This record gives sequence, structure tokens and C-alpha cells, in this order.
Amino acid sequence: MDLFTHFLVPFIILFFLGCKNPLAGGLGGISIDFDVVLVIIGFLFPYLFIFSHRGITHSLIFGFITAIIFLYIISRKPVRRLISKAIKRDFNIDFNWKTITLAYFGVLMHLLLDFLTTGGLPLFYPFSLAKFSGEIYYYTDLITTLVSLSVLIIIYLKINLKYKKIIMILFLIMLILFGGIRAYEKNNAINSMESSLNENFTEITAYPTSDTFIWKVVLFDPKNQKYELYDYYNLNGSKNLQGSYNKINITGNYSEGMKAIAEADETAVVESFKWDSFYTCVNAQEQASQWKITYFDFLATHYRSNNITVYVKK
Ligand SMILES: [Zn+2]
Repeated sequence: MDLFTHFLVPFIILFFLGCKNPLAGGLGGISIDFDVVLVIIGFLFPYLFIFSHRGITHSLIFGFITAIIFLYIISRKPVRRLISKAIKRDFNIDFNWKTITLAYFGVLMHLLLDFLTTGGLPLFYPFSLAKFSGEIYYYTDLITTLVSLSVLIIIYLKINLKYKKIIMILFLIMLILFGGIRAYEKNNAINSMESSLNENFTEITAYPTSDTFIWKVVLFDPKNQKYELYDYYNLNGSKNLQGSYNKINITGNYSEGMKAIAEADETAVVESFKWDSFYTCVNAQEQASQWKITYFDFLATHYRSNNITVYVKK
């Protein structure tokens, strides 16, 4: 989800709940996406891949800590003055337990919205690295982003509060409606692919794409460790096989190949790659003095390469 939506959702909810300081909720809502500044740590120290976008700050515990830090910084006098000047409005925010609680409400709304998108969040870090995702929306949605920006501008403008209230309600209705359509489509995609299941391919999962009406559907054969990837078109109900993939492919001595893969699995780059992958498949190729091991994700996310290659000495 985009930053505007992350600001607006908690802000609007708190506003209609009669809360005096909905701004704290909105600020909490955007705070955890400033994790982009932490990406450099993950880049310098590959083992710390939790320091990535949608990493450490997108957890229930560190989200809370991030909200406190963010609120503390933004409530300092020089920062407040700077923002007031930039937006040509009074920007007042206190740093106390009340505003911290409201900011954490914003964080929880953020986690909920991001959970509904594809890719997943490590909600229970540091207890678990597992990612959770509702796989309903794509990462960001252009229409939602543009509408959110417009709503934000309307709230900013000095117009009658009555109109602002109407716009805010319409915005929430639109968000819920979009979510409903998405969930309905996902259900459609899974139902219509069920006819493609057989005694081998027994598991089915659907993923949203940047196109509202196209879904990626993955069938899995747990016995033979194979995947099939389909594009599903909601508008006409058609499906296209995009590819078949083995989880592990070894060219050369099988048991030595498995050993080389196990060794490669221990490296930071591979751990980091796997953590970001939807599905990790491996091609291991025996060469004269080494194993060439390529990891790839056939559902690769949009912001990184879909494969990495490492070499393991024999
Ligand atoms: Zn986020």
C-alpha cells in the first residue's frame, strides 16, 4: 500500500471516532515505511536481511518501537517548525502515552493493509521469521494511490468540513469495495483452477498481480516436488500455463549435488533470497571443480532479481 493510504486510513477512523488527535494515528500509519533507511544495513550485512523494506519494522513489536522513535523525532520543536513552514499549516503533535497509543493504532492499520497485499510481513519477529500475507492486493495500486492523494489534498484545503467528511466516507467505502472485489476474484481464480487438480497436483494458491483482473495461480505436487504456474483471467475465465518447475534439479551426481545445495543454503545471500521468495527452486549443475547452483523464484517480486547463482567447491 502507498504512503497516502497508510496515513489516511487510521486518520479517518480516529477522526470519526471523535478522537482529538487523529494526526498521531496518521503519522504512526506512515512511520514504519521509513524502514527504507534501514535497507543500507541489510545491504552491508547480508545476514541482517530483516533490515529490509517490509522487514523488521513491519512486525508487531518493532512496529511499536518505530512508532515511538518516529513520533519522538517529529514532535521536536525544530522539526515541527520545519513541517509547519513546508505545509503552511500549524503542525502540532505532542509526545506522550496518548499520542504513542494512537500512533500504534496507525501502525496496526498499516500492518493490516500491508498484510492484505502480496509478499508477506514478518509479524511475529523476533520470535519467528515466518511471513504472513492475505494475498488480496498487489503491492500498490495506482487507482488507490491517486484517489488517496486527492483525498489528502481535499483534507488539506480550507473548505467546509461537511465536504471533507463526505469525501472521507466515500474513500473508506471505495477501499472496502476494492477489497471485496479482489477477494471475490481470488475465490473465482481458485475455484476455476480446481478442475486442473489431479492425484499429483493437490495444492492450489492464488496471487494478485498489478493487473486487477489477472491472477497468478500455483499448483503444487508435494509427492514429486513440482510446481505449475498459470495466469488466470478473471474477465473471461481463461487460464494459461506459464511454466512447470521442479523444486530441485540436479545435473550430475545426485547425492553430491544435494550436499552442495545444503552447503549453499547456509550462505547469507541464499538465506536472504529465500526469505524474500514466494517459491525457491534450485538448479544445481556439476562442473569440473565446482557446483554451479542457481536459485530462482518463478513468482519473483517486482523489486529484485528473480535468481541468484552461487558456486560451491567440490
Ligand atoms: Zn509498509
